[in-house]
Amino acid sequence: METMRAHVFQGVGRSSIERLPIPVPGPGEALVRVTLTTICGTDLHIVRGEYPVKPGLIIGHEPVGVIAELGAGVTGYEVGDRVLIGAITPCGQCRACLSGHLSQCGHGEGYEALGGWRLGNTINGAQAEYLLVPYAQANLTKIPDELSDEQVVLLADIASTGFSGAESGGVRIGDAVAVFAQGPIGICAAIGAKLMGASLVIGIDGDDARLRMAKRMGVDIVLDYRALDVVAEVKRHTSGGADVAIEALGIQDTFEKALRCLRPGGTLSSLGVYSGKLNIPYDAFAAGIGDYRIVTTLCPGGKERMRRLMEVIRQKRVDLTPLLTHRVSLDNIHEGYRIFGERMDGVMKVAVEP
Ligand SMILES: [Zn+2]
Ligand SMILES: [Zn+2]
Repeated sequence: METMRAHVFQGVGRSSIERLPIPVPGPGEALVRVTLTTICGTDLHIVRGEYPVKPGLIIGHEPVGVIAELGAGVTGYEVGDRVLIGAITPCGQCRACLSGHLSQCGHGEGYEALGGWRLGNTINGAQAEYLLVPYAQANLTKIPDELSDEQVVLLADIASTGFSGAESGGVRIGDAVAVFAQGPIGICAAIGAKLMGASLVIGIDGDDARLRMAKRMGVDIVLDYRALDVVAEVKRHTSGGADVAIEALGIQDTFEKALRCLRPGGTLSSLGVYSGKLNIPYDAFAAGIGDYRIVTTLCPGGKERMRRLMEVIRQKRVDLTPLLTHRVSLDNIHEGYRIFGERMDGVMKVAVEP
């Protein structure tokens, strides 16, 4: 039996590189040889035991690779095609998928309350030499020849999620948008707001490297919450409040501040995943009479989403490669987790080469 190397979750605080059998694709599935992937914030939570997954699962959910084998019934693709696969791999056929909520796909084994098939969360992921893609017909997106792995790898999760914060928030031409947290997802949310036509994008964080990167990636104003009353500052820069505030961290403080910095009629677009209790103070919510909207979005996946995002890159509207600040081999992945987890050396995203 042929084997591959893979980064496997072993239990709270423990993960290791293991040799596992190379999966064989069944009907509707595809085997992809991974050429580039990443370490994501969720992976850190998984390894630390803060996000429950089953021991034995291969971690990782931002894959770019080459089709190595196609299962029966997968048409329109060839072995050797370069493909991008979204972090969430919807079936394309269930009630949620056909209603347009692909990230809420709830079909078949592996379904969990927070959504359907999620690479590295409910099914084996991408930090491995090979990845088995379920519902391949709905999830393989060919990469245009002129685009490199590095140019597209972040579309699988952080860019799809970040941009969706602006899309779900309904950002309109001329809007002022405040984005709370300027990690990779927050910066992508800010970029998404610009793509949607925002006239002013304000990024809020308390980490010098992240604030610098936000500026470099086109955020108009960066606010350091360590030094400023950010709600008052957002109101000052926007003559009374942001049209849309995007929350990209997932804690009470940023959620509440995002709500407080809105103008009446504004939208809070929440991307964070909250654990524990989340309170909405009545005063921050204008006692319910502020015409506020609160919307949430989970990483949109599926091949059409990936195709659209790759077009944004191909037409040079956005370049995400500056966010790939570090690179490690799969064998050295623990070093990558350490750099990412301890936020060393201005790290934003760590690329992993199997
Ligand atoms: Zn992720
Ligand atoms: Zn589905």
